[in-house]
Formats: sequence, C-alpha cells, structure tokens
Amino acid sequence: MAEPRVRLWRVFRPLLVTVPCPQARPPFPDVFLKVELLTTFSDLGLSVPLLKTLTAEGYSTPTPIQEQAIPELLRGRDLFGIAQTGTGKTAAFALPILQRLSNDPKPLKAKSCRALILSPTRELAKQITESFRVYGRQLRLRTEAVYGGMPIGRQIRALAGGVDILVATPGRLIDLIQQRAIVLADVNLLVLDEADQMLDLGFIHPIRQLAAMLAKSRQTMLFSATLPKAIVELADAFLDNPVRVHITPVATTAERVEQKIVFVETARKQDLLHALLTDETIHRALVFTRTKFSADRVVARLEAMKIGAVAIHGNKSQPQRERALADFKAGRVRLLVATDIAARGIDIDNVSHVINFDLPNSPESYVHRIGRTARAGAEGAAISFCDREELGFLKDIERLTRQSIPDLENPLGPAAHDRQSRGGSKSGKAPGQNQAKRRFQNRGPKRGPERGSERGSDRGSAAPQADANAGAKKFKRRPSRNRFAKAVGAKA
Ligand code: AMP
Repeated sequence: MAEPRVRLWRVFRPLLVTVPCPQARPPFPDVFLKVELLTTFSDLGLSVPLLKTLTAEGYSTPTPIQEQAIPELLRGRDLFGIAQTGTGKTAAFALPILQRLSNDPKPLKAKSCRALILSPTRELAKQITESFRVYGRQLRLRTEAVYGGMPIGRQIRALAGGVDILVATPGRLIDLIQQRAIVLADVNLLVLDEADQMLDLGFIHPIRQLAAMLAKSRQTMLFSATLPKAIVELADAFLDNPVRVHITPVATTAERVEQKIVFVETARKQDLLHALLTDETIHRALVFTRTKFSADRVVARLEAMKIGAVAIHGNKSQPQRERALADFKAGRVRLLVATDIAARGIDIDNVSHVINFDLPNSPESYVHRIGRTARAGAEGAAISFCDREELGFLKDIERLTRQSIPDLENPLGPAAHDRQSRGGSKSGKAPGQNQAKRRFQNRGPKRGPERGSERGSDRGSAAPQADANAGAKKFKRRPSRNRFAKAVGAKA
C-alpha cells in the first residue's frame, strides 16, 4: 500500500488546469498556459537518505520519466520506457533499485549480484555506475562495473566478494561467467538500457543467454530511445504486464535542433570543416565521422592547423577514450571527433554544435547524434556535410524526422560542391549551388557493397560481423537510382 503522501499525489496529479493563451500569435498559435501541480521527489515515495542525496545534488523536481516511472517501479512493476539519454532515465531506474535493495538488506554473497544493468557501451556503463554510486552514497550498497577494454583480472577480483549492483556490457559479462567469476542466479532486478542500440550491436543472443541465467521471478526494466519492431518483440518476451512510459519521441529532439545541410565534394569536406571553424560560436563541437580511420584523419588535419581536437572510437584503448572524453568535457579541446559509439548514452553538457562530417547510414543515428547538442531542453545546432554518395542517407533522415533540412550556404563557394558549376542563382544562394545540388540528385548516390559493409566502421567493437550484416541488409532496401532521383527531385 502506498504511503499517504503518494496516494494524495495520485489524486491531485490529474488535476491539471490548461488555459488557452489569448496573446498567442503565429508562429506559436497553439500556445497554452499550462498550470501544473508541481511534483516533488518526496511525493514519489523515495526514502529519506535518497531524498537527502537528491537535494544535495540540486535535483529539486523529478523529470517526467522519473515522475511516471519511480512510483510504479517502487511497487515492483516491470517497465517499458521509451526515452533517450538526457531525460533523467538513469535516476528513474537507479533510485527505485537502490531503495528496493536497501529495504531488503542482505549480506554480500561471493561471486553474486542482486541487480544487473546491461549497457551497450563501456562509456554508458561507466556513467551508470557513477550515477548509482552518487545516488546511493548514503546507503550501504556496493556497485561495480565490468566492461571490455579493461584488465579482466581486476574485475574478477572486484566480483569475488559479491556486489549488490552490477553494471555490465554483455560481452564482458559473458566472459566473466565463463571464467566462473560471477553467477546471476540471485539477480531479481534487471535493466536493459539503450536496448535498441544493444540490438543494433548484435547483442540479442548474449541478452537472451544472460536472461536465462537470472532468477525467474524478477522485475525487469527495458529502456529504448526508438521503437522498432524488434524492440516491441523484445519487450513482449522480457516484460510482464509492464507500465509503459513514453518520453520525447525521437523526432521531437530533432525539432529542437537548428539543422543545416551543406553539399560538398568528399575531397573538400576537411576544408569545409576548417572554414566553418572560423566561426567562434562553434566553441564545443562534436564531429561525427562514419569510420575510425576518418576520425583519426580529421583529427590529424585539425591538429596540423593548431585546432584542438581528440578522437574517440572503438580502436582507442579504454584509458584513451576516457581521457578524450575528460579533455572535451573540461573544455581542454574544442572538438571531439567521434564515430557513432559516442552518439548514444554519453552525457556531455553544453555542446554548442554537432557537425556530421559524414552522414550516418541509419537515420536513427542522425537523430541520436544531433541530440547530443539539445540536452536538458536546451536548443542546439547541427551542421551536416553531404556528398553525392550520401544523398540517399539524407533522404532517409528527412523521411524519419519528417522535415526538409535547409541548406547552409557553402563558405567555400560553388567550387566546394562542383568545380564546373558557375553562374548566378535566382534563390540568392551561392552561385552554382542549386545546379550542383540538382546534378548530385540526378546522378543519385553510388551504390555498392563497400558502402554497406562499412570498411572500418565503428558501431561498437563487440559485434563487427553482426554489424556488417545489418549494414548490408539496410543497403539492399534502398530504392533504385530512378526512384531515388524522382523522390529527391520532387522535394526540390
Ligand atoms: P540521464 O538521462 O539519466 O543521462 O540524465 C541526464 C542528466 O540529467 C544527468 O546529468 C543527470 O545528473 C541530470 N538529472 C537527472 N535527473 C535530474 C533531475 N530531476 N533534476 C536535475 N537534473 C537531473
């Protein structure tokens, strides 16, 4: 039975007053003044030690996902959360887990854990672990993280005496189980975080394998930023009558970001980047490339121009990855050049711009990438470079986000996208820009296995084979050159 304050809150929560705002004018004709009864963390039924920590951390009001998820999770319900990083979802699952474990204290059991959080990437696993340690610092609970790229011996020793909460990437966890460093039979709290990315990285079999080892009667929380069919199927298989919480649909984040596209020949992308960086409002930018090789090359060329940049991708050692993130977060370098591994889960504040040096071949990745700049309700800017081979990717992105991304005048001039294009433009754009764009569109993107197989691509080092197959499958589904030219022609 919920405590009286919680019951009271449930009664009053629906009493929202929505008042039409008569002063509203275009472009905001639908503005309504919404008066809400503010919910506090104590309304959600959290214990005093957790409330004290939240106050010390400066968290005054729960975010929507916390408001909706925490009371249900405290009651033991399963949860299906559609939410991205940046919505406060870590606290939404960490706080109830900490509370449930501390309400049921048990001595640590060797090589065992009670709560398991699975994360697709090492960086996210580390971030989640830090959150558990911060939120739970008044409680006597032990949290450990295990992920690849770090010496396994140290992790085996850390697990020897048992832990309460284990945060893990699936591959390393399976290694540790095979080495008999941990058993999962006592796990009755399971979180699958960023489940869609775990599926993208080919972790479905490890997840099923791990789930079969857990306690049969358990509480499961599944979080995903997107809702493809595979995630719905996973939720059906893993969750028992879950509460469903849907926060910030993927396209909404994209709407908060001011997006621009610049058409450019592949060979001139680096010059374009340097030209854009003369704008000092680009003070902390994430630059995304499709391959590890390209990320390293972009950084080398930036360094040659004395522009501070570091690269982060799957070929870097874990200490290198952590140092790169720390330098970028602390403002010691202006640019972090990343493959998609950094596009998800990572919490970096005040990113002024996201620059897509290469467009991603999956439109969802585009949304995740640009979402790195519109954090915590802030506005952000994203500039994407598009060469002729990426026109198909652009079309997929515009279809998913349901918007046509406006052109940014190329600071390098018409030669940047088509050296042969010369002459004026009725639209007032850079001379030759429209002709160049049309020429790109009519030719359509080059298609071939080398794009689908993503030589050297970095969608996580854990499952390169699964990744390559996924890329190839997506590739086949693309429309023929004629269909493509017609669709883009209609847009223009
Ligand atoms: P997450 O989506 O879990 O990665 O959280 C994004 C950021 O929001 C993190 O830096 C959290 O520390 C912060 N955060 C989470 N919940 C709250 C809250 N209720 N009030 C203020 N900040 C929060």
